[in-house]
Amino acid sequence: MAYRLAASLALLREEVNTRFPGRDKASDGWIGDPAHASRKSDHNPWRKDDRGVGVVRALDVDSGHGTDTSVGRLVADHLVRLARTGHPALGRGAYVISDRRIASATSGWAWRRYGGSNPHISHTHVSVSLDQSDYDSRRPWGLAGAPPPSRPTIRRGSEGPAVRELQQVLNRWYPSLPRLGEDGVFGERTEDRVKHFQRGSGITADGVVGPMTWRGLGFK
Ligand SMILES: [Zn+2]
Repeated sequence: MAYRLAASLALLREEVNTRFPGRDKASDGWIGDPAHASRKSDHNPWRKDDRGVGVVRALDVDSGHGTDTSVGRLVADHLVRLARTGHPALGRGAYVISDRRIASATSGWAWRRYGGSNPHISHTHVSVSLDQSDYDSRRPWGLAGAPPPSRPTIRRGSEGPAVRELQQVLNRWYPSLPRLGEDGVFGERTEDRVKHFQRGSGITADGVVGPMTWRGLGFK
């Protein structure tokens, strides 16, 4: 049987890959495995488009390397914030499950405790809207912004807009860690957070933000 992934989710996957280059994809997925096929799941193409092609309206995004679930949580929190302000793909029938939490269009996108047998720690699950004009929306998800072309190498003692941008992106990467001041001053806390990021990304943890670290953070 012919099937495809909803266009909104293909775009979401692209944006996640751009935002988190080199991320762990082990728990990524979209088309249902046999375990899914036996029950009703949006990973099965049970919804047909206007050409009769089955559409998979669900995507699983790996939460991150090992015990680090920051990618999954960041994506989930971002989607739910976006849903509250309105995104066509997060309309009727849409929901997000992440780290024992579920939020849905039906619940007004408030996070509730999720008690299903799979707590969704290793991946974040996204189901999009039931209607084709919505699940095939190509509206950007806002995860992969277009950064300026080149960035200076910065380190402890650096100051200025690039440092502020670094602090902002680190805060987006690690929403569950104490927030860094976004003051544009590269101090000890910023350096520690940079090293934390570098260790988690397989980059030499020297606290210096050069091309490799910028790229790892999602900048070109
Ligand atoms: Zn799933």
